[in-house]
Amino acid sequence: MSFEAIKKQEQEYILHSYGRVDVALSHGKNAEAWDVEGKHYYDFTSGIGVNALGYSDEGWVKAVTEQAGKIQHMSNYYYCDKNTQLAELLAKNSGLCRSFFCNSGAEANECAIKIARKYGEKKHAYKVITLENSFHGRTLTTLAATGQDGFHQLFTPLTEGFVYAKGNDVEDLKAKLADPEVCAVLLESVQGEGGVVPMEEDYLKAVRELCTEHDVLMMLDEVQTGIGRTGYFFSYQRAGILPDVVTAAKGLGGGLPIGVCIAGEKVKDVFAPGMNGSTFGANPVVCAGAVEVVSRVSKPEFLKEVQEKGEYFKEQLLKMPNVEFVRGRSMMIGVKVKDKDAHDVLNACAKAGLLILTAKDLVRFLPPLTITKEEIDAGLAIFAEQIK
Ligand SMILES: *Cc1c(COP(=O)(O)O)cnc(C)c1O
Repeated sequence: MSFEAIKKQEQEYILHSYGRVDVALSHGKNAEAWDVEGKHYYDFTSGIGVNALGYSDEGWVKAVTEQAGKIQHMSNYYYCDKNTQLAELLAKNSGLCRSFFCNSGAEANECAIKIARKYGEKKHAYKVITLENSFHGRTLTTLAATGQDGFHQLFTPLTEGFVYAKGNDVEDLKAKLADPEVCAVLLESVQGEGGVVPMEEDYLKAVRELCTEHDVLMMLDEVQTGIGRTGYFFSYQRAGILPDVVTAAKGLGGGLPIGVCIAGEKVKDVFAPGMNGSTFGANPVVCAGAVEVVSRVSKPEFLKEVQEKGEYFKEQLLKMPNVEFVRGRSMMIGVKVKDKDAHDVLNACAKAGLLILTAKDLVRFLPPLTITKEEIDAGLAIFAEQIK
């Protein structure tokens, strides 16, 4: 099928909720991809941080296809070895206790908010503090949690009970925590969609202390930052803290839809049977892929490489005269290009054979964690040419 035919079909039969780039991918290998007409691309997006091990990774394909040939789905009425194995791996790599599996980042955050409500019930506390400029998902409740007015105005009325604090501002958080109806703080350690804005380590430590002091939950949305993206298995490990609840999704399944909400010691018993559920949650095929991802990404050598490649990206980018600044953590990279609109850069790069993302007025890279130095160099050469 030609690109034009696909585009026509999309226009006709798919609801117009996405602004798309003129690219239709067909297949790929690690950080390289080919479109339906055979054109070659380097891919610095990994499907918005999803294909953690790149395209068609051998180990991942084997894990997923073997599981698909054994049993593809069973209901959550039954026990499932892939599901329990993944939960144990996540507990060991997070320092938290028990997982609830679902299918997306938004759903994982919904679960975190439900946990917060249950935790606060006894003292009639139901409000969740999130940060200005945050992004937590597209369901009505996670849109309410998202601290950006633009998103709120689209679908009122939204779920009640969210209060927005300024990121990296301890005093503002203190003031908002004075409200006795607050039961939790939910935040990203690096605001991805908000423009790759990192929270300082000292701020994260202060959030941890203040949450403990006020007996409210510290909940981290690691949907984008988690599973090795920032050079740590979870980004809070960089700050040396332990939240009460963590959510993850994007990179976890290596390309298959899975979300998880992991509960720490304080809240590992808040749910009783019937309080949350998901038909597809912890699907065996998806979990088999996730077990492969987590087993590999959690290795210290792998994480060290992610850090080193992140540094390399930064060094190379800062050599380009038209780069104003670079920010982020390891393989979650935001680039401010001088005098150029980020979307124009994205479109020009796509034409020239490099796939990138934007976040607010920044260009954003979320490459597969397995990207090679050769792939980085080749992709950055295209980027340098396009921002000249
Ligand atoms: C992408 C993202 C979400 C939403 O995830 P979906 O899988 O699209 O529902 C939530 N939080 C953060 C930080 C994200 O980056």
